[in-house]
Amino acid sequence: MKLYPLFADLKGLPVLVIGGGAVAERKVAALLATGAKVRVGAPQLNPALARLAGGGQVTWLHDCYQSAWLDDVWLAIAATDDRALNAQVAADAAARRLLVNVVDDASLSRFHVPAVVDRSPLMVAISTAGAAPALARRVRETLERVLDHALGALVTLAQQHRSSIVHRFPGLAERRGFYDWLHDGPVLPLLRRAQPAEAEHVMLDALSALGVEPARGSVTLVGAGPGDPGLLTLQALRALNQADVILHDQLVSADVLAMARRDAECIDVGKRCAGRHVPQDHTHQLMLAHARAGKRVVRLKGGDPFVFGRGGEEMAFLRRHGVDCEIVPGITAAVACAAYAGIPLTHRDYAQSVCLLTAHGKDTTDTLDWHALANHRLTLAVYMGVERIDVLTARLLEYGRRADTPFALIENGTLPLQRVITGALHALPALARQHAVGTPALLIIGEVAAMARDHAWFGELVSHRSGTTVTQDACAETV
Ligand code: SAH
Repeated sequence: MKLYPLFADLKGLPVLVIGGGAVAERKVAALLATGAKVRVGAPQLNPALARLAGGGQVTWLHDCYQSAWLDDVWLAIAATDDRALNAQVAADAAARRLLVNVVDDASLSRFHVPAVVDRSPLMVAISTAGAAPALARRVRETLERVLDHALGALVTLAQQHRSSIVHRFPGLAERRGFYDWLHDGPVLPLLRRAQPAEAEHVMLDALSALGVEPARGSVTLVGAGPGDPGLLTLQALRALNQADVILHDQLVSADVLAMARRDAECIDVGKRCAGRHVPQDHTHQLMLAHARAGKRVVRLKGGDPFVFGRGGEEMAFLRRHGVDCEIVPGITAAVACAAYAGIPLTHRDYAQSVCLLTAHGKDTTDTLDWHALANHRLTLAVYMGVERIDVLTARLLEYGRRADTPFALIENGTLPLQRVITGALHALPALARQHAVGTPALLIIGEVAAMARDHAWFGELVSHRSGTTVTQDACAETV
């Protein structure tokens, strides 16, 4: 081990930062956050440091560097871009047996400042001993994704009840068992759900004669986004990492599933059995059975679970059967497909509102308010619309939407095979057929859809004139 890791308690102690620029500013901010008394030595300060000095949060040693500055501080950081000066500071600090850090110069530093993942009071510090700080930053990114943001609150809770925990579990082994339960059991999810009182209650029960609750099964309805795994949320990733069982729809991409815990059991409930979908009731029963067996179940749905995802029904079913249910929203197809096609859903000049609709509801298309949908300053984002394109187009025209209203039909949005077909409303059915648009496809109708032609940025962008098979289709010119 090249470096001895340590966390320093600097509260109330004088420390010195030499330098008045942006780097010094960052070091000062971190030191102030720990409660140290910060002195900044430099002939000049940048505006942010000058504000801190003006407000009395730091003491400004308004001069060129003097070795006497090191006499009564506990720690010094040299953050200047003058290597000779930094070396001088390092030598002066060594003469005083003072720990010094020279920013970006491992050879002159007696201590290094690690990259940190902060879930205070839990802290993870990462160092490569100056060998490759950029790699330390990458490791930090990974840990940021994996470590639950509620961990800080969990550690604080454990700290508040530390003496009761030691009293209740005097043996080290049983105490470890308790901490394992605290980390893996129901307390952390409650903290994540902003229910600290309930979390504390469950923990106190565990400390009382009631003892530790056996593992409770749970179901998390998780939005997987439209397909690009980069559009998963951190919460979705965490849920996938913790899942014992994943019940996913057909729409969920293989790349997204690849992010799940390796040994999680994956069940495709969107699969067609003998040409038919797994019935919704069967999905309900599967969720229930696995949760009741104490498993952490993730019900993974394309897009967002509450936008045409039957998430509402599933949540109500679980609640009715006394199963805990958490919801992780996802990026819904309308938002994602629009973005990946270069279409702003609202625009000050063209569209004041957006309507997410499906022409494939439990009830027929006739329950839709066609009069309202024909408003020309409204953007329509139609889900599951491909099969009803004829009736949809006919109704909109009938109720007065202009025949030259632009549309964009986005097939396989956000995926490598994304195709965008644009044109005018009157030609929509013909163009959809001509290009054999399949599922999944999202239809955007409204003035904003025209922007797809000029603002496409995702997928293979084939020139309008090339005449070859096009991914980013520009057939508006043909109508
Ligand atoms: N809950 C999902 C919608 C499920 S309904 C969400 O919030 O996005 C299924 C419909 O969503 C598809 O028929 C299609 O209209 C749309 N859709 C989902 N993913 C899509 C994608 N990657 N590209 C285009 N449309 C998509």
